[in-house]
Amino acid sequence: MDARDRQETPHAPLGSLWLTIRHWLVAHTFAPPFLTGRWSHPAVGYLLAVLLQVVTVTGLVELIRLFPSFQFQEALLILVVLVVALNWGAGPGLLATLVGAVLLTFLLLPPVYSLMIVRIEIVLDLLVYLAVGLAVSLLSSQVQRARRAAEGLRRRLDTIIEALPDALSIYDAAGRSIQINPAAHQLLGNHQPGTQADVSPASDGRTSSGESFPSGDLLVARALGGETVSAVEINLRDAQGHERILTMNVAPFYTPEGQIEGAVLISHDVSALREAELEAAARAGQLEAILEAMTDMVVVHDSEGRVILRNAAAERIHPLEWTGDPSQTLPQRGNQFLPRDEQGQPLPVEQWPVQRILHGEELTGIHAVDVLVHLAGGHERLMNFSGAPIRDANSRVIGSIILGRDVTERRRLEESERRVHAETEARRALLQLILDALPISAYLVRGRDAQLVLANRAATTLWGASWQQDQPMGEFLRENGIRIFGRDGRPLEPAQLATLRALHQGETVLQHQETIRHPDGTALPVQVNAVALDMRQLNLSASDEATRPAQASEPAAIVVHQDVTLLKETEALKDVFIGLFAHELRTPIAVLTGFAQTLLAHSERGNDAQLSAWQREALQGIDQAVLQLVKLTEDLLDATRVQAGWLELSRELTDLVALCRRVVARFQLTTAQHTLSLETSLDHLVAQVDPERMEQVLGNLLSNAIKYSPEGGPIQVRLREAVETQMAQLSVHDRGIGIPARQQPRIFGRFERADNSRPYGINGTGLGLYLCRALVEQHGGHIWFESVEGEGSTFFIALPLASEAAPARL
Ligand code: ADP
Repeated sequence: MDARDRQETPHAPLGSLWLTIRHWLVAHTFAPPFLTGRWSHPAVGYLLAVLLQVVTVTGLVELIRLFPSFQFQEALLILVVLVVALNWGAGPGLLATLVGAVLLTFLLLPPVYSLMIVRIEIVLDLLVYLAVGLAVSLLSSQVQRARRAAEGLRRRLDTIIEALPDALSIYDAAGRSIQINPAAHQLLGNHQPGTQADVSPASDGRTSSGESFPSGDLLVARALGGETVSAVEINLRDAQGHERILTMNVAPFYTPEGQIEGAVLISHDVSALREAELEAAARAGQLEAILEAMTDMVVVHDSEGRVILRNAAAERIHPLEWTGDPSQTLPQRGNQFLPRDEQGQPLPVEQWPVQRILHGEELTGIHAVDVLVHLAGGHERLMNFSGAPIRDANSRVIGSIILGRDVTERRRLEESERRVHAETEARRALLQLILDALPISAYLVRGRDAQLVLANRAATTLWGASWQQDQPMGEFLRENGIRIFGRDGRPLEPAQLATLRALHQGETVLQHQETIRHPDGTALPVQVNAVALDMRQLNLSASDEATRPAQASEPAAIVVHQDVTLLKETEALKDVFIGLFAHELRTPIAVLTGFAQTLLAHSERGNDAQLSAWQREALQGIDQAVLQLVKLTEDLLDATRVQAGWLELSRELTDLVALCRRVVARFQLTTAQHTLSLETSLDHLVAQVDPERMEQVLGNLLSNAIKYSPEGGPIQVRLREAVETQMAQLSVHDRGIGIPARQQPRIFGRFERADNSRPYGINGTGLGLYLCRALVEQHGGHIWFESVEGEGSTFFIALPLASEAAPARL
């Protein structure tokens, strides 16, 4: 189009005039809103202008023919012009005027149908018609254009209002809302236009300056009073029930005459902003609190080394720095506290931590530096400084943050700790030296699992392996295949080891017999003494204590082993001797018994000379003594057999009821002072036992019950079957002198005797119970007792009834 315009330009001023007119016509031609699509083309307007005028004139011609006196022909044509101009604009309006003028001239004005202008009135008529038509076209088209522009503007405004994220409501002069946008809807819920302004949360409304501001209503009212109120902040619960913070702006709008026509209220939701602000403030508060609570000093410098922030600790630690003029240069300020290195040499300014950081160095972690500083009152402190530069977006250093910690005390403690540690180590070395010089094995253990603290050289020899420091005893034994056995040749449970007993029960274990068996089969009998200690009292390792603060009173024990191989050998020799001796005694005793009994028998039969009464008594005395001697030698022999593990049983099915009855009857014959009884509900109770040995056991118990009840009294033997365990249970109860509690644990030992029998002059060897236990255990049973000194004792035996009960090895 433009190109064509340019081509046409040189032709004539006429062309440009036409162009101007065309532009004007295009600009002033439009289509009525009820026509859409191709009907909205401007040509339709022009066409209709002609058509309507032709129709009107045709109608008029008919009208005049019917009513020749009809006067208002032009008026109707002007009406058509008005209609066309209002709907299609000035172009079609003008065309309608012109077409009307032509038709008027030739068809309507008198003389009718003359097609000639004959009179001046007619010319005037035509001119007036033209002028009015022209004016009507232009004016109505302008009015219409203005109306349309206003319409467009209103639509745009509506769109803006709708799209506005802020809540907007418009009120009329009476304060009724006439328009509210979706954002306001959302905020206020079903707030229909036409209701009274009711932004009324407002109990705690306040202006941005903080004054209380009671109501949203009032805001609109103020605007309707001509005031423009801006940035009033109010709290409000929205239609969904959420707390919102809004900033409200309200302004009146006026009629062209300057009357207030209504007010616009715009509410901007600042909840998120306020929340963020609050959060930021809280963060800042927290940060400040942290800074203030820190015991380390924190100082922020600008790039010139001026202090721009410091915490309370900084003031406390370095008051000197702050007293001076803040505009002082860094060296001026720094010189007040004479920074020196750890050796006391003055630090050049460029070596000062602040200066180094401002030069871009990071003094964090291991790069932190210790500086000696001189504080008010002449105090010398060692400070540890760390920090980093603060940089802007271009990595330029714009300041520094520096942290300072007073490490004077810590350094002193470290020094003293080092000293204590050295002393402890020296003590430990001395102790080790002393222990190593000892000929017997000694070691110190700690903790419930007996971790080694130190051991001497003899201990390493004893174990045949070196026990590592801190290694638990169990682990050490396992690793080296070392096993520990008790006196009876059975492996000891960990809890039975003297070392662990001392640690667990805190007891002092003396002369505990253990046998250390090495993996190569060699066995070492030892006597162990373990003394419980408190690790704290030892104070052997300061560093250790530091790493184990929780174990305030850790158990510890010092353990000494004594090699008793020699002792054992002597004991074995003694056993051999006793065995030999007892064995050799048998023959003379047999001879003695033989002769004594022969003598007695002969004299009774009257074969030889009669023995006098005293001679017979003497012979009976000899016989009794020999019997005792037999018992003693048998016991001695049995004891050596038990010791050597040679005791053999010849088991057979034996009725224990009959056995008990037999033994009880036999022993009743030996005493008149005591009443022996057998209590049992059983007729028979058969077990696979060695009957002679069982008689020996029961005999021992009964003879003890008789011996140790010097006042006489009842002695009850009870026999029952414990069905649940398949055991026969036998007990012997007396009301004798009892066994003192302190001696009870050892009473089954070899040659052990309680001392409460001494005042009564009761003889014994201390072998009976030892043999009883050995025999019962070899039968797979066990023996125990209950006794109260002065009240009596009950000895119990449990024997397995099952024939296949494996004999226990001794
Ligand atoms: P002894 O030959 O001394 O009797 P035993 O081994 O039979 O040796 O007994 C060991 C010790 O146990 C005795 O010396 C005695 O002190 C104590 N004793 C054994 N049985 C009894 C009992 N029934 N009443 C009191 N003391 C007893």
